[in-house]
Amino acid sequence: MFKALLVEKNDDGKTSASVQEISTDQLPQGDVTVAVEYSTVNYKDGLCIGPGGGLVRTYPHVPGIDFAGTVEASDDDRYKPGDKVVLTGWRVGENRWGGYAEKARVKADMLVPLPEGLTTRQAMAVGTAGFTAMLAVMALEDHGIKDGPVLVTGAAGGVGSVATAILANLGHQVAGVTGRPETADYLTALGATQIVAREEINETTKRPLETETWGGCVDAVGGDMLARVLGQMQYGASVAAVGLAGGANLPATVVPFLLRGVNLLGIDSVMQPFDNRQRAWGRIATDLPMDKLESMVVPATLSDLPKLGADILKGQVQGRVVVDVTA
Ligand code: NDP
Repeated sequence: MFKALLVEKNDDGKTSASVQEISTDQLPQGDVTVAVEYSTVNYKDGLCIGPGGGLVRTYPHVPGIDFAGTVEASDDDRYKPGDKVVLTGWRVGENRWGGYAEKARVKADMLVPLPEGLTTRQAMAVGTAGFTAMLAVMALEDHGIKDGPVLVTGAAGGVGSVATAILANLGHQVAGVTGRPETADYLTALGATQIVAREEINETTKRPLETETWGGCVDAVGGDMLARVLGQMQYGASVAAVGLAGGANLPATVVPFLLRGVNLLGIDSVMQPFDNRQRAWGRIATDLPMDKLESMVVPATLSDLPKLGADILKGQVQGRVVVDVTA
């Protein structure tokens, strides 16, 4: 028997989450069983700890969209007991059981060997949010980052914090947009050279084009924020759109695309092919300063998750929550 955060559907149709003992027989089918050491709290986890937001298909459910740990048993030649592995994506923690348990069973294809130089805890300090931030930076690089500040929206959140640290470490000026002025010191320590208040972007003129300002953008917010930012991009610059913390509607015009050649790049961390996953994890190991990563960490245990899940949906989590599932 081992510990897991189990989300159950009650008779009244509502869900409740609690830490329970479960057995290996209850784990889903898969060819690799992993002794999970760390998982994290992402926006989707907030949904899955609660009513599911359409992501969870069957209950009881173990959320946790990412984890890192040690292989315990493997029917696949690529992995043997004792190997350190990391997993993000594949809808693990959504439509199959995830990382909020001391054991997880998955398909070997879903795993990536832990990159050289990273511990399992560091890998989860990065987690899905940080992995996605790296994919976003790689996409911007592929399309060319212009001179001038790179904007990061939702900067104090998980994706935003890691994107800020990576971009700053690569030598870019970083302007972090935040709705929480009290995070300014935190963002400056991560390498932001400019703090932009959320209202400054949201309350701009709503003209389709404004002054060309940003040489690139990692956007974790979407909605009105993304619509405004598109009109502020430099000619030919790119926005890597990662999330919708501020809403799914995009009240924009085509003008920034037509008259400024702006690129809108969609970033999906879930279905990335193995080579890209490995490349992104390799870049994380080299391009993300570990002291900055440590400064983002909020430590947690399985029993903290119901509250943290609610907090992240309200945009109240700073940095990266790292869950020690064995604690
Ligand atoms: P967090 O909650 O950690 O960060 C989101 C940040 O966005 C908040 O901290 C806040 O930053 C800002 N924010 C929240 N609500 C609003 C609002 N109404 N208006 C403007 N800003 C707001 O989440 P993550 O960083 O983990 O994820 C961010 C988004 O990216 C989510 O939508 C998530 O689902 C998505 N995502 C997508 C992935 C993909 O593969 N495409 C992978 C991972 C995440 P501040 O306080 O600084 O303003």
